[in-house]
Amino acid sequence: MRVYSIPMRTRFRGLTRREGALVQGPAGWGEFSPFAEYGPAESARWLAAAREAAYDGWPAPLRDRVPVNVTIPAVAPDRAHAMVRESGCRTAKVKVAERGQSDADDMARVEAVRDAIGPGGRVRVDVNGGWDVDRAARMIRALDRWELEYVEQPCATLDELGLVRRRVDVPIAADESIRRAEDPLKVRAAGAADIAVLKVQPLGGVRNALRVAEACGLPVVVSSAVETSVGLAAGVALAAALPDLPYACGLATLSLLDGDVVHDPLRPVAGEIHVRRPVPDEAALRRHEIAPDGWRRRAALAQEHLDGPAVIEVAR
Ligand SMILES: [Mg+2]
Repeated sequence: MRVYSIPMRTRFRGLTRREGALVQGPAGWGEFSPFAEYGPAESARWLAAAREAAYDGWPAPLRDRVPVNVTIPAVAPDRAHAMVRESGCRTAKVKVAERGQSDADDMARVEAVRDAIGPGGRVRVDVNGGWDVDRAARMIRALDRWELEYVEQPCATLDELGLVRRRVDVPIAADESIRRAEDPLKVRAAGAADIAVLKVQPLGGVRNALRVAEACGLPVVVSSAVETSVGLAAGVALAAALPDLPYACGLATLSLLDGDVVHDPLRPVAGEIHVRRPVPDEAALRRHEIAPDGWRRRAALAQEHLDGPAVIEVAR
């Protein structure tokens, strides 16, 4: 097991560094990087994803490129405009409802993004659960002036998402509402969303995520958990193996990290990530490596909640 710690360029979930463990098996390298607040039972699914990558590999891809979106944080309109242009992406995801910002700030940012991407591009907004039902209904109608592809997690709860969905014409995507395999079925049953945002690690691997996608029957947007290229490759493998991929994926997240563990990172070219599996590079690994003790302990505790073969050997 090798453990990395890489500084974040942009604060994310309050984090200034991203940490995780990389494990190598006969099928290649896997990433185990649950966020710090996740306990052993929840982390077990993340470990299952690393085990699949290292020991089983992934299903064959059905496509060789995956379209991705550029993510626009809560920046000023001129900066948002420039970021879209520089990205080369045909889909932009705009963060709104950020603390300390007004509805007018959000409108100005979305207007700038629509202008930058042009009439043929797609614009979605991500609210991260920041609105109540009335504000969501009002803001979605206002922002749809610039033609929204969909709105991601406008409110925090499934009940609220369902209420908003019945009041607006713009499709609703569930992100934070989906954290484990049974959640997409609940989202579907509650009529709370039109689209499911799925991530490989919390769902326990590419095959599990494919099963979840099939069972819930909603169109899927694959997103990352802000991993290195090793973890991202699993997200790319999921996006490449889905029978239908109607939306650009949230896999262009390497730009949030100030470094990587491979020398040919999974960055988009002209708005697409080429389907491949980069291998850790020894020099890059060493540059970001920290002592493995803490992550060994986390993996060992998570492993106790996992059926099947062990991912790491634990010294007793
Ligand atoms: Mg989101």
